[in-house]
Amino acid sequence: MTNKYMYFIANWKMYGNLKSLNTLDKVIKFSKSKEIMKGRLIYCPPYTLINSFLKKFNNCLIDVGAQNCHESSDYGPHTGFVNAKMLKDIGANYVIIGHSENREKGETNKIINQKIKNAIKAKLKIIFCIGETLKQKKNGRTKSVLQNQIKFGLDKVSKKTNLFIAYEPVWSIGTGKIPNIKELEETVKFIRSRFKRKMPKILYGGSVNSENVKNFRFIKELDGFLIGGASQNSKKFIDIVKKTYN
Ligand code: PEP
Repeated sequence: MTNKYMYFIANWKMYGNLKSLNTLDKVIKFSKSKEIMKGRLIYCPPYTLINSFLKKFNNCLIDVGAQNCHESSDYGPHTGFVNAKMLKDIGANYVIIGHSENREKGETNKIINQKIKNAIKAKLKIIFCIGETLKQKKNGRTKSVLQNQIKFGLDKVSKKTNLFIAYEPVWSIGTGKIPNIKELEETVKFIRSRFKRKMPKILYGGSVNSENVKNFRFIKELDGFLIGGASQNSKKFIDIVKKTYN
């Protein structure tokens, strides 16, 4: 059982509509109960729902973020995109950057680095995703891949206080497969060793559910979870928090 502040970040990906807002009542009630212990809840819905989520969570401590932002800090001719300061402007406090689903579509470490710098300027908290593919894991390259993603993604980024590193093995996202716990512990320690101080916070993401979360909570260096699929179901999301603390 853990007794520390833990972050539970819901990544709704490209799911959800206005009707889904009703499903959040349970989570709001839970967030006001003692059962939440020291859990911090953050929702990252699609852009179209950020404003509605902010209104919905008006009277509770649940925070809201976005799933990505454009790398430019200025307004400009980028059809279909929003930048970090536009997110801050509507009240979002977090942004996910470097998710493997976007890296797969061509998002490079350089672009990710630019996004992170602009998100810091906009005073957003950043959930910076890193993780190896199955092929890289099989070739024994996990640590070198993570080291590179950290090195180039955080190039010339000195302020790490608002930074979360989300370790998300690509082969684990949405597959139901999770890392061996000893290996995960070693990887998380490795990530921690890349930084001088207790910052940034480190999250794990990849097929987390209320059954397997019990295994992760023994990893002392972990500060929480980035949760995709299971976060879209309020009961499952709440159960993850409960099982982390009990
Ligand atoms: C994610 O996409 O960030 C994620 C962790 O997804 P899932 O929990 O569905 O594996």
